[in-house]
Amino acid sequence: MNCIDEFVVVNFLSDDEIEIGTTKRADRVHILDLPAHFDRASSFLAVRSRREEKRLPSKLPIVDISLLSVFIFPTGESAILKEYIDDFSISNGENALEYLITHVSKKSGFDRIEELWEREGRFESKIISNALLTRASVTRIEEKENKVMGKRVTKLSNVFGDNGTLSQILKGYEARMPQMDMAGCVSDALVNDRVQFIEADTGTGKSIGYLVPLLLAIRDNDSKAIISTKTKVLQDQLIDKDIPIVKDAIGNTSNLKIHLLKGRSNYLCLLKAMNSMNEGRQIGLEGDVSSQMWLAFLERWLSDTKDGDIQSINERARDYIDVNKLRFLTSSKEDCIGRYCPFKDRCFLLKERQEARNSDLLVVNHSLLLSEHVMRSDTDDLCILPPADYLVVDEAHRFADVAMSTLGHDISYKESKNFINSLAIFDEKTGRSKGIMSECFLSIFGKDAKKLTRESERFDTVLKRILEREDTLFRGIEGENTAPWKVQYNDMAEELELTLKECIDIMINIEGKLDDKIENEVNTENDVVLLLRVKNVIEKLDNWAECLHLLINGEDNVWVKYIEWREGEPSLHIRKIDIAEDISDIFDSYRSVILTSATLNINSSFSFVTSQLGLDRWEEDRKARLGFSILPPVFNYSKQALFLIPSDIEEYHYEEWGYERYITSISRILTSLISKVHRKTLVLFTSYRDMNAVLSNVENEGYNISVQGKDGNAQEVIAKFRGTGSNVAFGVKSLWEGIDLPGSSLEILIIVKLPFDNPRNPLTNKLNSLKGFGNYMLPRMILDLKQGIGRLIRKLDDKGIVLCLDNRVLKKSYGNVVIHSLPEGMGVKVARWKKCLRTIEDFFKE
Ligand code: SF4
Repeated sequence: MNCIDEFVVVNFLSDDEIEIGTTKRADRVHILDLPAHFDRASSFLAVRSRREEKRLPSKLPIVDISLLSVFIFPTGESAILKEYIDDFSISNGENALEYLITHVSKKSGFDRIEELWEREGRFESKIISNALLTRASVTRIEEKENKVMGKRVTKLSNVFGDNGTLSQILKGYEARMPQMDMAGCVSDALVNDRVQFIEADTGTGKSIGYLVPLLLAIRDNDSKAIISTKTKVLQDQLIDKDIPIVKDAIGNTSNLKIHLLKGRSNYLCLLKAMNSMNEGRQIGLEGDVSSQMWLAFLERWLSDTKDGDIQSINERARDYIDVNKLRFLTSSKEDCIGRYCPFKDRCFLLKERQEARNSDLLVVNHSLLLSEHVMRSDTDDLCILPPADYLVVDEAHRFADVAMSTLGHDISYKESKNFINSLAIFDEKTGRSKGIMSECFLSIFGKDAKKLTRESERFDTVLKRILEREDTLFRGIEGENTAPWKVQYNDMAEELELTLKECIDIMINIEGKLDDKIENEVNTENDVVLLLRVKNVIEKLDNWAECLHLLINGEDNVWVKYIEWREGEPSLHIRKIDIAEDISDIFDSYRSVILTSATLNINSSFSFVTSQLGLDRWEEDRKARLGFSILPPVFNYSKQALFLIPSDIEEYHYEEWGYERYITSISRILTSLISKVHRKTLVLFTSYRDMNAVLSNVENEGYNISVQGKDGNAQEVIAKFRGTGSNVAFGVKSLWEGIDLPGSSLEILIIVKLPFDNPRNPLTNKLNSLKGFGNYMLPRMILDLKQGIGRLIRKLDDKGIVLCLDNRVLKKSYGNVVIHSLPEGMGVKVARWKKCLRTIEDFFKE
């Protein structure tokens, strides 16, 4: 076998010039140490190539795949490249080289590399000047994909093509290549039992992109699927809009059972509602106007609603009725008596769960999916999810976060205190007791009520002691809402654990006595119901006891323990550091899993999301199931958007001495922008501290600004901003994703600071120290940044500016990673603020 060493040479001459060539003269080119991250400053890269002449007569150089992978995927991810090569089953070298060309072109914004490739069939050393990226390479890839997918693509093109069924249903429909790519990719993954990650840009229409092949597979193969999303908004959009469109487009779907299931607390509990209405009448609430309205509303709504979902109460009703009151009347695990409930035949929750179990396609949220998998049981009532062949995880960039919190344990001070106190309140004077368990106590367990009251008081006192200590230590620091659990609290936690165990023992005692009573007496229906409630209470107390046990004994390399304050309420938390096993178990339950989002890759690598889910540690044969795709962008970012960084911005300082100067500098920029450029502007902060400090400077100018927190929650602020209410909105982290502001409803997006997680947060701190900044904090920030930027361009004719006020992009070594992760083609401009301002004005004049 005659092997010839060759080299592909990529020479970055300057920011605007690139040289690419090959040479057979190995002695004249040295393989350089490849930089950990792509870095133009290193200016020169040579990749060794190897051609086996007999087998591959092509003149093209054959590139060493593993070396090339290091260049293309600096963090070590080579799966995409392998998959790409496998898919097209042409010579590795040709393919790999082409991939390199495409990537270098995209990263650098050079397209003449493509032309040279086309015209000359090989590379010569040439200087290629700055030019815009064309879609030539993308088109060629799509042609190849079509060849590979053959028959199946024909079927999909009947739906997606220019004259496909979607064009007959959707007004103004235009076939979008990335959407077809998405459908082809999903179809392929379903057929080949893959765990497929797909990043699809905003505007791809990815829901329809995956729904078409999914519904085809369900319809044609008699299979079942579950779709999991992070937000209710997307669930509603799937059920109300996208699924009906796809059903129409593919036809013959009237027999498919499709269902949306939400968490238990979304559904009204009829038992509680009836009790509440009866109590209201008994204590004469009918005389009070607002109570009358409330009772009338409840009666009316109960006769109207089909699913008992309290979210479905319309906006108008919300103006008159305190819908929050309904929260007390929704189903809860500890109160539900299931088949012993007098309303079991009409119960919304049981009905919804039954439909969910029988459905062909079930839509749920991440938290419900994960908790059901964790507690999965084969016993009737408890198993909610139907056994399914396929799982689609939409908004997959948040799946690992939700998994961590679902697989952890929490004790909320308010909830636990109220719950334990409500079990029994023993009145010394009358010798009677009230509370959830009062029925038990009144009849036979008076002594237990007394003991339980004592224990619940002890629980309250000790928990308060821990939290008050933390309160004075940490809450003085503005903007901080978490504190690590400390070993010195273990004594108090042990006391709490002991108290809980006492409560559990009392309940177990009651459980035993009830069991005896049921066995020996005839009329026991009431006792059976009581017994069920006792069991529910024990389960809940057991969970808290488990949380306390782990807080005291959980190993620090397995668990992260911390205290958090949210809306003034403290809570205790424990999170599992490694969720790999749980995620693997979940993924193994499905033939194929699709994970999709607009933000999954960083510099063409999926290594961060796979490591978050622990898939990077899968054995090789399991890893073979993994697939990765990045779909081409829909928008022309080079024309539609610009990323601006003022070079004269102050550096951020947390400490007071530099903080004020920093805030003043941000405020000045915002003031001049708002007064000169009258465009819809969304300002995204990373903390309330920064937002409020800037606001106190800017609001003196008399601008009409909608402010998250001050003017309502995220949705309320966006509603006001979307209308004519205000031209500027200030928001914190919850506005960085999930909001849709197309067209002129958002034209300038300001990133005040790069959205790094707070390093003082114990969970962030722990994971960062274990995985390292480059593998944890940085990629998390990049994905959040991409989400934030994704708010700006939502339609083909949108235009907008991203103004980044964080000069770390210019000064820190990771600035390059930030720039390279911007949407493909988006121009970047660095200039002094005055010049930036002129650029913004000119940009909107064009
Ligand atoms: S079965 Fe449970 S949720 Fe349903 S009405 Fe009865 S108690 Fe409420």
